[in-house]
Amino acid sequence: MTLPTITLPKFSFEFFPTKTEDSVEKLYQTFDTLNQLAPSYFSVTYGAGGTTTERTLGIVAALQNRANTPIAPHISCIGDDKAKIAGLLDTYKSLGINRIVALRGDLPSGQVGMGELPFAVDLVHFIREHSGDHFRIEVAAYPEMHPQAKSFDLDINNLVNKFAAGADSAITQFFYNPDSYLYLRDALEKRGVDTVKKPLVAGIMPIINATNLVRFADSCGADIPRYIRKQLADYGDDRKAIREFGFQVVARLCEDLMKEGVPALHFYSMNRVEPNKSLVEALGLNSAQTPPPSLATDKA
Ligand code: FAD
Repeated sequence: MTLPTITLPKFSFEFFPTKTEDSVEKLYQTFDTLNQLAPSYFSVTYGAGGTTTERTLGIVAALQNRANTPIAPHISCIGDDKAKIAGLLDTYKSLGINRIVALRGDLPSGQVGMGELPFAVDLVHFIREHSGDHFRIEVAAYPEMHPQAKSFDLDINNLVNKFAAGADSAITQFFYNPDSYLYLRDALEKRGVDTVKKPLVAGIMPIINATNLVRFADSCGADIPRYIRKQLADYGDDRKAIREFGFQVVARLCEDLMKEGVPALHFYSMNRVEPNKSLVEALGLNSAQTPPPSLATDKA
C-alpha cells in the first residue's frame, strides 16, 4: 500500500495568563512539554479592558526567553486608548515578538465606553499604521457567526474587512461541525479572499469538562451538536468517559478538516498538556509528512 503524501497542517497552542506563582510554574512546564511537539507558535490571551495586561506581558516575556518557538500575544482594543496599545506594541517589538492576535475583546461587566478603537478592524488598521509590517496579524473568525453580529452576511464582511485592513490570517472560534468551517472558507473565497494567502485557521477546543464546555459555548455562540451534548449529559460525572468520548470527537473533527486541506489547527489548550499532546500525536502532526492511517485509507 502506498500512502499518499499529504501536506500536514501547521498547529499552535493557546494559553491564558494564570494568576498564582504555582500555576505560572505549571504553565512553564506545560509549555516545555508541548513545545517538544514543535508547534508553529504559542499564543497568550489578554483580558479586554486591560484586566490582564501585566500578567499577559509577564508570561509572554518569560516564554519568549524560554525557547525559540514564536510567542504571539493577544491584544484587544475595546475600552483601551491608542496610547496604551501603541506602548504595548512597542514593548512586544522590543522583546522580539513578531506576531500578534488582534481582537476587539468583550468589556468586563460594569465597564462602559468602547474606547478609541471600537472594533477589531480599527485595531488592525492601527497596528499597521503604528508598526508597519513588523507583526504578522491574526484575527478572529466565526464559522457560526459572532453572537452580536447583525447578520451572518455582515459578520463575514467584517472578516473580509479585517483582511483588507492588513490581517494575515484568521483563527476561528471553536466549532464541532466541519461544514461550518468549510462554508465560511467558501464564503470568503466568493468575496475575493484568497484563503491560501490569507489562511483560515481552525480553532480546536478539546473536550475536557462537559459543564464548562457547555457554559462557554453558550456564552460565545458556538454550537455543540445534539449528539455531543446528549452523550456528554449521559456520562454525567464520569470524567474518564467524557474525556475518552471527547478525544474521539475532536480527533475525528481534526481528521475531517485535514481531509479538506485545513492549513492549520489552533488548539485552545486550556493550559493543559492533555489531551492536546495526544491529539497532536494521534493526528501525526508532529511527524514529517506521514498521515495517520485513517487519512490514508480512502486514497490508498
Ligand atoms: P470584531 O471583529 O470587532 O467583531 C465584533 C462584532 O462586531 C461582530 O459581531 C461583528 O460582526 C461586529 N462589527 C464589526 N464591525 C462593526 C461595525 N462597524 N458596526 C457594527 N458591528 C460591527 N477575547 C479577549 O478578551 N481576549 C482574548 O485574548 C481573546 N482571544 C480570542 C481568540 C480567538 C481565536 C477568538 C475567536 C476569540 C477571542 N476572544 C478574546 C474573544 C473576542 O474578543 C470576542 O469574540 C469579541 O466579542 C469579538 O472580538 P472580534 O475581534 O471578533 O471583534
